[in-house]
Amino acid sequence: MAPQFDAIVVGAGFGGMGAGIELDRLGLSNYVILEREADLGGTWHVNHYPGLAVDIASVTYSYSFEPNPFWSRLFAPGKELKRYAEHVAEKYGLRRRMRFSTVVDGARWEEENQQWVVSIEGGAETLTGRYLLTATGFLSQPYTPPFPGIETFQGKIIHTTAWEDDFDLTGRKAAIIGTGATAVQLVPEAAKKVAELTVFQRTPIWVVPKVDAKIPAPVQKLFAKVPTTQKAARLVNTTMLEALMVVGVLHYKQAKPLNKAAAALAKAHLFAQVRDKQTRKQLTPKYDFGCKRPTFSNHYFKVFNQPHVHLETNSIERIEADGIVTADGHKTEIDTLILATGFNLWDVNFPAIEIIGREGVNLGKWWRDNRFQAYEGITVPKFPNFLSLNSPYSYSGLSYFTTIEGQMKHIARLFGEMFRRGEHTFEVTQQANDRFLDQVTDKLGASVFYGGDCSTARSYYFNQHGEAALLRPNSTVSTHKQAVSFPLDDYSFGAA
Ligand code: NAP
Repeated sequence: MAPQFDAIVVGAGFGGMGAGIELDRLGLSNYVILEREADLGGTWHVNHYPGLAVDIASVTYSYSFEPNPFWSRLFAPGKELKRYAEHVAEKYGLRRRMRFSTVVDGARWEEENQQWVVSIEGGAETLTGRYLLTATGFLSQPYTPPFPGIETFQGKIIHTTAWEDDFDLTGRKAAIIGTGATAVQLVPEAAKKVAELTVFQRTPIWVVPKVDAKIPAPVQKLFAKVPTTQKAARLVNTTMLEALMVVGVLHYKQAKPLNKAAAALAKAHLFAQVRDKQTRKQLTPKYDFGCKRPTFSNHYFKVFNQPHVHLETNSIERIEADGIVTADGHKTEIDTLILATGFNLWDVNFPAIEIIGREGVNLGKWWRDNRFQAYEGITVPKFPNFLSLNSPYSYSGLSYFTTIEGQMKHIARLFGEMFRRGEHTFEVTQQANDRFLDQVTDKLGASVFYGGDCSTARSYYFNQHGEAALLRPNSTVSTHKQAVSFPLDDYSFGAA
């Protein structure tokens, strides 16, 4: 029996939407996009905490084929990203393919019918598709640490991914746990409202200045009228980010001075913004720049000069009904506990749904038992007709859109060849997969992850085996080049 759909896409964020656009370009228009949330936009739908904005300039953090001339700032606020996602969905006819509030449990390759069987809501419903594309994000499984006593806390607990827009922080005695990119945006906003704020920091983060400004109306008009001007702005910005990433992080061994210069810039920024020497020391990372995702802010450090804002660096021992007790026995009394504690990346929730390929191989288990791996960060042996958009070594560059667009190119080349041969199934060969894994392993040897000092970073770039298996160790230019030129016999093709 023929499958119900040409393709099933899981996830209606920018990754899933890019996949949908590419499927339409390939003429595979009978597809469905399944999304567990109530609306589209992925992270930009889920996150709406105060201060949310992109921290990669908007000219770069958007699809190159769908520029938005009307970003209000160089770094657009979160709401504009959500609106942009809605615009893309409308323009490319994606919304009518989407099914919201639909929790996918798992997918299983059915050899007999050469199709994927996708199970929804605990098996209440199954859908079948010739191809399966997962775009479930890396940062989509919120993490709440198992602090002893957290269940006894009598005040308000809120995770940044579950922000309640009508929740008023005015006059509260609040704690924010975590100092990642989310906290760096939230802390200055929360400090404006609360009576007391204690920021619990386990690991400091490198923060560099954010060169942000409003985009004046005449510039927006110019971008709209002469799109090459915005393209030029994108090129300049993307090139700067690439230099930071490729030279400073991935080629750390060869270009240590650039990495050290980035750290020096962050230190100077801290020195200029924080008066107290001890606080500055506490806010200074002991690991190399780039081991953990650095962040950008002009407001974060300054907040610690304010008398009602405190930095707590002792480790959290327990949570009581009305406060947090640290290892030194000190109790910080609070009525509001904000968890900016990030996401689970590499544990049993990766991949976000259970995926069973040929011969009953379970993708997540196989990754954990062996090494995390995926050819070109997108396909895996024994998983035919499957494209995993959030794979190990898939993240290329600092803007997620460079990754998505590289993957769209890979899909176009792969499907183009399959159709040219009159076939309907594909699977990457074990040999090609092994070769790619060897290449990335070799290249990562020069990166800050292995050549630098990342011992105290506690970075989600590293998995439970200590491998930096998230970022692809090359420039986005070479990722995109590879996406349009990978050897076609890296795949085997077959009839349906
Ligand atoms: P995160 O970077 O993983 O930070 C989580 C924070 O919680 C860390 O400071 C971590 O400390 C702390 N934490 C976790 N468990 C803890 C425990 N048991 N005790 C004390 N502290 C604990 O998460 P995030 O800030 O949500 O950011 C995740 C990513 O989202 C960012 O790196 C970025 O890629 C993305 N993001 C992007 C934007 C944007 O503007 N584009 C904005 C926000 C986020 P340790 O460091 O010690 O583990």
